[in-house]
Amino acid sequence: MFLKGKTALVTGSTSGIGLAYAKAFAIEGASVMINGFGDADAIEQARAGLAQTSGAAALYDAADMTKPDQIAAMVERCHAELGGPDIVVNNAGIQFVSPVTDFPDDKWDAIIAINLTSAFHAMKAAIPHMRAKKWGRIISTASAHSLVASPNKSAYVAAKHGLAGLTKTVALETATDGITVNCISPGYVWTPLVENQIPDTMKARNLSRDQVINDVLLAAQPTKQFVTPEQVAAFALFLCRDEAAAITGANLSADGGWTAA
Ligand code: NAD
Repeated sequence: MFLKGKTALVTGSTSGIGLAYAKAFAIEGASVMINGFGDADAIEQARAGLAQTSGAAALYDAADMTKPDQIAAMVERCHAELGGPDIVVNNAGIQFVSPVTDFPDDKWDAIIAINLTSAFHAMKAAIPHMRAKKWGRIISTASAHSLVASPNKSAYVAAKHGLAGLTKTVALETATDGITVNCISPGYVWTPLVENQIPDTMKARNLSRDQVINDVLLAAQPTKQFVTPEQVAAFALFLCRDEAAAITGANLSADGGWTAA
């Protein structure tokens, strides 16, 4: 229980990788604040399960990651009600797949806001609290798409490359404060975000569902296996250890070899 007494705030943690981070932090005794959209009963069940796992408090905050004032208010609520935040994971993200010439303006704006700008606002609000304690961990879920591109994902690739740059900059600014700032860049992880892009990719590339899974998604991953949310969460947990204090400003791949190719 090496995170007992610490508080972790995970954006976009009502499903997928975000919920796996929250569970991993709770198993190590942290108080957690979860965030994201979804069915109210399912979210309450997840929140209650986290509190039971950690033996500490768990709260849900419905902040919309497109709204800077709601992000700042969520960080301040976390500070007031749980303490910290000692750990912030910028994880909320959406995807939309389309050639750039047809890419809807509102989808571009939403992806940049949720996948990139929300991390800026969360870091800006949380760092003063971390500095006060001379300890902090900021982890962002970037993507293999922070390092390489794929067609039809202009907004997502731009946002994730931006998140990797933001990570480096903020790591330099906090390097002497006991705070580390890193991003984890998974390859394809089997979550609703991947499931939901299959129909659009089928349409954009005129492929069957099986072809999209095997010839588009797993084609990029030499292991031919999806990464699991639990593997990504275990990586984040390591970054929260004192042994990881020298790891900052890094873009850490967990992509089944994708970006080695
Ligand atoms: P997911 O769809 O399961 O989870 C996304 C989360 O973000 C959900 O909790 C959702 O409610 C939340 N969210 C979406 N819009 C929001 C908003 N406006 N405000 C607050 N919360 C919002 O997807 P996932 O695959 O678990 O994705 C999590 C992160 O991992 C994303 O940043 C994604 O880009 C990244 N990622 C995913 C994969 C993958 O293959 N699944 C690979 C690399 C990176």
